[in-house]
Amino acid sequence: MLAFALLTQIFWNRADLPKVTENSACLLSTPLHLGAMPTLWNTQSSRRNFIESGVLTTVLMGIPGAQAQEESSFHLALLSDTHIPADRSNEYRGFRPWENLKRVIPEVLAVEPESALINGDAARLTGEVEDYQELKKLLEPIAAHCPVSIGLGNHDHRDNFQQVMQPATENKAAIEDKHVVVMEHPSVRIVQLDSLLYVDKVAGLLGQDQRAWLEQFLKQADDRPIVFFVHHTLGEGDGDLLDTDRFFQILKPHRQVKAIFYGHSHVYEYGFREGKHLINLPAVGYNFSDAQPVGWLDARFHRKGVDLTLHATGGNKADDGRTTSLKWA
Ligand SMILES: [Zn+2]
Repeated sequence: MLAFALLTQIFWNRADLPKVTENSACLLSTPLHLGAMPTLWNTQSSRRNFIESGVLTTVLMGIPGAQAQEESSFHLALLSDTHIPADRSNEYRGFRPWENLKRVIPEVLAVEPESALINGDAARLTGEVEDYQELKKLLEPIAAHCPVSIGLGNHDHRDNFQQVMQPATENKAAIEDKHVVVMEHPSVRIVQLDSLLYVDKVAGLLGQDQRAWLEQFLKQADDRPIVFFVHHTLGEGDGDLLDTDRFFQILKPHRQVKAIFYGHSHVYEYGFREGKHLINLPAVGYNFSDAQPVGWLDARFHRKGVDLTLHATGGNKADDGRTTSLKWA
């Protein structure tokens, strides 16, 4: 039987992180605790140590042989907009999202990432229980290999998602209906934010509580690079992240914040704003335009930047295999 654990904070290479206790305390001491969502689970229990720290379940990832060297990197598989339907034959623009993810799974396993991340819109349209049941089945081979972190987008549904992924009930969410995952690694800190506002409506919002948490988190941050993941596009439109400007105001003074990854638009694109790299992740499920690839990114984060390799499984495959290297400003 698979044990789907709820993890809200993960540390990689425990021995390399002398500030583990301090970090945990820092997060625990903020008035807002990280939310309780089963967005990160892993069935390989031999590599886990669970430490109950009040409301926050902290997981220390010990990777044998990993060194705390300056050049050490954090290897992640980045997926977005999988749009998994209950009906496996469901089709949109000639794409079958269920089959697309099925095709991506062995590709992800082949690169042996340390973690996999889905940046929202995990479910097809309205986040049905049956959608998540299919998603869970599809992801099991990856979850057996490494932690899988799933953020929620506007086509996800919190309660249904929780129901299928069986969250740990002792983890109380103090940010109502919002969930944040923090992954700690010597070379990078990954923060997956929650922008789900309404199910099956386009706009997203971090909201006041999450922004307040974010300000506290950044105030207490050390000098490691910080990278954010949020589902919604960072524009001015009615279907974007509605508090984009306030988000950037919070990030602006913090030079450790190096990049923001987002999805939502099903476009693969790079940008730059106020000293931060912007990466629009391609969709796994389908594209909205023939010019766009369908697929995922193999990411290696290191202290000075990130190398991102496109795995295009559909749509425009012209850049399949191309690596884009970003240097932190
Ligand atoms: Zn989407």
